[in-house]
Amino acid sequence: MSTFRHQLAAVAATLALGVTSAVVASPASADPRQTEKTPTAVGYGGAISTVDPDASAAGLEVLRNGGNAVDAAVAAAATLGVTEPYSSGIGGGGFFTFYDAKTRTVQTIDGRETAPSAMRHDAFIDPATGKPYNFTPQLVTSGVSVGVPGTAATWQRALDRWGTVSFGEALKPAIKVADRGFVVDPTFRQQTLDNKARFAAFPSTASLFLPGGDAPQVGSIFQNHDLAATYRMLAKDGIKAFYSGPLADEIANTVQNPPKSPTTTLPVPRGSMTATDIANYSTIDRDPTHVNYRGYDVYGMAPASSGGTTVGESLNILDQFNLAGMSDADALHHYLEASALAFADRGKYVGDPGFVNVPTKALLDPLFGKQRSCSIDPTHAATKPVAPGDVTNYNGVCPMAAAPAAERDTENISTTNMTVTDRWGNVVEYTLTIEQTGGSGMVVPGRGFILNNELTDFSAVYSPTDPNRIDPGKRPRSSISPTIMLQDGKPFLALGSPGGSTIITTVLQTIFNRIDRGMTTPEALAAPRASQRNTAKVTAEPDFIAKYGSQLTPYGHVFQPSGDAFTSAAEIGAETAIEFLPDGRTLAAAEPTRRGGGSAMVVQPSP
Ligand code: GLU
Repeated sequence: MSTFRHQLAAVAATLALGVTSAVVASPASADPRQTEKTPTAVGYGGAISTVDPDASAAGLEVLRNGGNAVDAAVAAAATLGVTEPYSSGIGGGGFFTFYDAKTRTVQTIDGRETAPSAMRHDAFIDPATGKPYNFTPQLVTSGVSVGVPGTAATWQRALDRWGTVSFGEALKPAIKVADRGFVVDPTFRQQTLDNKARFAAFPSTASLFLPGGDAPQVGSIFQNHDLAATYRMLAKDGIKAFYSGPLADEIANTVQNPPKSPTTTLPVPRGSMTATDIANYSTIDRDPTHVNYRGYDVYGMAPASSGGTTVGESLNILDQFNLAGMSDADALHHYLEASALAFADRGKYVGDPGFVNVPTKALLDPLFGKQRSCSIDPTHAATKPVAPGDVTNYNGVCPMAAAPAAERDTENISTTNMTVTDRWGNVVEYTLTIEQTGGSGMVVPGRGFILNNELTDFSAVYSPTDPNRIDPGKRPRSSISPTIMLQDGKPFLALGSPGGSTIITTVLQTIFNRIDRGMTTPEALAAPRASQRNTAKVTAEPDFIAKYGSQLTPYGHVFQPSGDAFTSAAEIGAETAIEFLPDGRTLAAAEPTRRGGGSAMVVQPSP
């Protein structure tokens, strides 16, 4: 949601409303809808940072009422399902990390979407041609790339393990926002327009998100009564009402028989998901990944996400260098080279550990990082792709070599992220997704939410040696990197971001900015981003290229401006973070401008 002034939005809403049952926004003082956004907030008693002011407000209310960070995170996540329906929601999955102030430990939940039991190795091959489906439009808008959703189960599991309120209680703020509506901002309208062609192909999606055939106007009120009803049902009957019964049947039916309009020409391959696949879904409690970086204990998400191993390995590589003593250009060069090396290893070794043997321990071994760091030439960028390292044979001594392997990267840049802390010092870092902006494009008819297209995160072409090959019942490799850093056992910084595989570099770059480049956390978030994922060119925001391009090209780095074929945004990530200041205050930080700017709030402001 953008920086629209409240009253202005209320007036615009009044003018734009053509909806019968819609609530007309009242004057600013009485209207609980949130449109003001502040990207930083400092104070006590708990804090939250998300991309959206309604979601942050929902979480803040829970914190104020005595709920803990987990209760607030679930309330905010459910609200994001309303206000950020193209990036998150119960049709998707995610990864939840939690710092428990009592035990001073970090624990995680893997709520990743899962392949149906009948998914074939050749599921992404078009039977009509014998060739792989095109990524766009066939794969992204399809039943075949919908994974069994994990988000509702993640909320329940998080509340069961660490929460203090019931599932039904946690859904209440979101139900209110869904019924009352939120003020459409330019980001929401643009995301709808970016998806217009495929949304129009499904009457269930078009009737919700393209009322009257157009994307909702900026300043209008968007309500989602179908989602409110779905949430109400879950609040009453629990998540069994999602994973079994009529809703599960409807999800399976949507996947198997995509509800296309009879006139669309869009090819929409069918998927195989059954109600039994949905009933068999479960989240997985996982130990976090861990590395120590310059005295900080950095905890991340273990496989099936590649976030923790890739951020962690990159930090182990960077730990070999005195980055703080380097020029900007030299330090950035090392940052770019380190992530390329870690991405080479991600490609070779990381997949769902239930199906492949992921050498997590070796990838995070400081000795392995040290040996990988030998490949960095301080003055020249290596030719990309660089080769993966050998996790079975390393001793921290240079040199080491292997044959280069190229990697195709088709991950998209959507998803959403939040950081929450409470008065007790617990911390949640949670990234949730439906894969690309707009997911599969298919709303389960009458239920108010979009199904994910997360299975596009599998490698498109099957190879038995690929850790991210398609297998039935498997979780596709993610890049989601919710990260919690501790200093002497206490939280120092928690952060995470959307952005497909650029999530890893966004989190890494922010840690590097904060720890090695002397930036504050808000500065570290705002700084222009660049992402080297072991490809010939570095993807970078235009501001990064303008600021550092001429300093880095002499090393041999070649830049390509960010932005993709699916969205009009040339941004990398939409991060949230909370830093725990030495004086006991917390500093919640969100993006100042990316994705329209985020929303940081604290219970008791004390700037
Ligand atoms: N599918 C991505 C992943 O799990 C997240 C999507 C995104 O951030 O856009 O890595």
